[in-house]
Amino acid sequence: MASERQINVGGVPIGGGAPVAVQSMTKTETADLQATMTQIRAIADAGGDIVRVAVPRDDDVEALKTIVVESPIPVIADIHFNHTLALKAIDAGAHCIRLNPGNIGGPEKVAEVAARAKARGTPMRIGVNSGSLPKHLHELERENSVEALVTAAVEFVELMERLEFEDFKVSIKSTNVPNTIASNRLLAQRIPYPLHLGITEAGTKWTGSLKSAVGLGTLLADGIGDTIRISLSTFHAEEEVKVAWEILKALKLRERGPVLIACPTCGRLQFDMDTVVAEIEQRLEGYEDPIEVAVLGCAVNGIGEASHADFGITGAKNEGLVFAHGKPLRKVPQDALVETLFAEIDKSIEEGRTAFDERQSAEGAEWLQKIEEENADQLTPERIAAMEAAAAAEEAGAKPLPMASKVELDEESSPTAGRRFTRA
Ligand code: SF4
Repeated sequence: MASERQINVGGVPIGGGAPVAVQSMTKTETADLQATMTQIRAIADAGGDIVRVAVPRDDDVEALKTIVVESPIPVIADIHFNHTLALKAIDAGAHCIRLNPGNIGGPEKVAEVAARAKARGTPMRIGVNSGSLPKHLHELERENSVEALVTAAVEFVELMERLEFEDFKVSIKSTNVPNTIASNRLLAQRIPYPLHLGITEAGTKWTGSLKSAVGLGTLLADGIGDTIRISLSTFHAEEEVKVAWEILKALKLRERGPVLIACPTCGRLQFDMDTVVAEIEQRLEGYEDPIEVAVLGCAVNGIGEASHADFGITGAKNEGLVFAHGKPLRKVPQDALVETLFAEIDKSIEEGRTAFDERQSAEGAEWLQKIEEENADQLTPERIAAMEAAAAAEEAGAKPLPMASKVELDEESSPTAGRRFTRA
């Protein structure tokens, strides 16, 4: 369930039904003003809503005074162990303070920070980390680590409430994906405050992205989580932002820029799709419109499952087809596919509509049909999926979906023989 409460971090609403905010953290020494600002701008350009900077020294507080003024997005000061730095960061104008009430030197010091934050209207992120639970919860942690994490978070929430400070969001961080999911589910039931989600030390771009997609994706799909950060072991913080956006886009929680659809390729592939997809993906980064672009490795299935895409390409040996909204735009030589695709996208964005040249469209449709007919006996992954869907619909008593034309079922060559559908 979405959090009931909402806070405002430098103009970005968090929780209470606001869009899930994307965060990242700079990897530079904050005191290195130039390097930090360069990274903040890269994060903002990639779509980061909020940025966090580490503030472990007085030099960093000095830099923070300029950063909060020059940053295009709100800045959270990340403080550990030193409540004086938290006070200074609030005075420096940080848009939010992140601290762990368990490691800042006791309730009196937390109270001092809360009072200063309240006086200046600075929200906080309070959090617990699986690696630093308070001593009195260590036994519970051994018995039930999820309950221990949630208890620690609830105790911190109660402390803040006793201090009459309620302008905060809460995070529970763990390197363990199932524990992150279970503890946030439990916490969402127990407190009304916004939740920040993340998997601590998730790993490299590859493993970290996957762990985060599984952990955060599961929670977000449940409606839990108001702001997210993908922690990746890379100096390029903007990569974290890109991954966060892909998760939000995949769940249709937010829209930003194009969505690329690409077939997985198989033995029917007719062109160098690896490089073509990589080039298209890179070029699409320069677009802001939420267009859907499909890349199909062969034209054997026609436009098929990509017919809902705004634009797409599919190739054969020497030629390829550029299509839009399920209809051919034009047939082009294979090496002109990408350029033509982008020319059509640009034209469509400029004119606000996609214009079809009827002669070229008909030529493309004819070419496509010829390829489909030549390969009508091929049992492609898409055709197998269509047959399975038709069989399932039939089983359920629904009207079967239209089958691909001229497909003759071949018992011997079918990898799904006897599994999902029966044949006479
Ligand atoms: S049959 Fe499907 S998966 Fe294989 S190359 Fe063609 S579109 Fe891609």
